Amino acid sequence: MFYYSTQKQSPAVTLKEAVVKGLAPDRGLYMPETIGQLPASFFEEITGMSLTTIAQTVARSFFGDDIAQHELDAIVADTLSFGIPLRQVEDNIWVLELFHGPTFAFKDVGARFMARMLSHFIKKEQQEEVKVLVATSGDTGSAVANGFLGVEGIRVFVLYPSGKVSDIQEAQFTTLGRNITALEVDGTFDDCQALVKNAFMDEELNRSLRLTSANSINVARFLPQSFYYFHAWAQLMRINPDAKAVISVPSGNLGNLTAGLFARRMGLPVERFIAANNRNDVFREYLLTGDYSPRSSVQTIANAMDVGAPSNFDRILDLYGHDHHAITHDITAYRYNDEEICHTIRETQQRTGYLLDPHGACGYLALKEGLQPGETGIFLATAHPAKFRDTVEDCTGKSVNIPDGLSAFMQRRKETIDLPNDFTLFKKALLRLS
Ligand SMILES: *Cc1c(COP(=O)(O)O)cnc(C)c1O
Repeated sequence: MFYYSTQKQSPAVTLKEAVVKGLAPDRGLYMPETIGQLPASFFEEITGMSLTTIAQTVARSFFGDDIAQHELDAIVADTLSFGIPLRQVEDNIWVLELFHGPTFAFKDVGARFMARMLSHFIKKEQQEEVKVLVATSGDTGSAVANGFLGVEGIRVFVLYPSGKVSDIQEAQFTTLGRNITALEVDGTFDDCQALVKNAFMDEELNRSLRLTSANSINVARFLPQSFYYFHAWAQLMRINPDAKAVISVPSGNLGNLTAGLFARRMGLPVERFIAANNRNDVFREYLLTGDYSPRSSVQTIANAMDVGAPSNFDRILDLYGHDHHAITHDITAYRYNDEEICHTIRETQQRTGYLLDPHGACGYLALKEGLQPGETGIFLATAHPAKFRDTVEDCTGKSVNIPDGLSAFMQRRKETIDLPNDFTLFKKALLRLS
């Protein structure tokens, strides 16, 4: 299968090129040329299938032409070695817990899949080391660093805004060593993202280094996120075969939501999607007005969604042929400020016993606001509440249990390289460290 650029100014490429390049030369995002419809029999049998089997079927539809089936199956099985349970929170609201992977956030799925796919392609050709550049507002860095840790032939540089990620998040990508280097940038997440984007555009850098991105612009990171939408639906159908499912997605760069839209395009019978924003609500504004005005992000307590210029927006436009009306038919968006998020975390725990993290809280709130009579809502819990312990404890007034796997990160020593928000200095550092 070929992948074309959303900007349509550079040629279509193979899967391998799309994964290794990340961003297209014209700054567009790669899209698969076709989105295969899954057969009706798949949806009839899906309630009896495991997450791994579901994911392997979906993966074949995207990557089956480009990777031998047994190798692809192994990549998928290795990616999904942890559970993704669906739990009931109240009457018609369910939560899909995406945070049971190694870094306790949903990005583990895409990061692990991408690391294994990239390593598969590199091994085949035995070429020079690939440098993965990743900008993070917190969770991407930890997921990518852990997904790629120790993977041969790949070196990872994580750029993050100094002082703007939680201690636990920071520990997850600054203490690993080996092939992982953390660059602590004096700036915002958007600054980090701009530095990475500029590196991909820089001729000299690209002549001397083999660069790729592990942000959700990479097809190998965002497409695998469609797997668990099928799994969520299958679990719901097991319990209530007549449910009309609406899925609410806490959104920042819109990679997760876009993966859900792909799942629907492949035939998943989800009624519609809800995008939950924090105060960074350019996407909601676009849905309401048709105008898209990216801007600087503002800091919130749901900081993994502090994105002012969502990178996957162009994929959504492209998927819908730039038809605003069609987009608003399938997606509604809501936004919440810190006070509303905090209140919801406290109130939901008191009323139902379920502890939300600030991102999941936005997804939950959006369902409460947007769910229509007769619909069943699923929101995605994108991170474990312990990952945002300080915020959650402030909101509930109670202490949060830290899972062992998470506290282990906190015992290690932090190692970072300080970097001003300056492209020339970033470039020098990259060349020096490579
Ligand atoms: C990355 C992230 C999001 C936003 O996901 P996008 O795919 O960027 O929209 C939401 N919640 C958490 C916890 C995240 O880490």
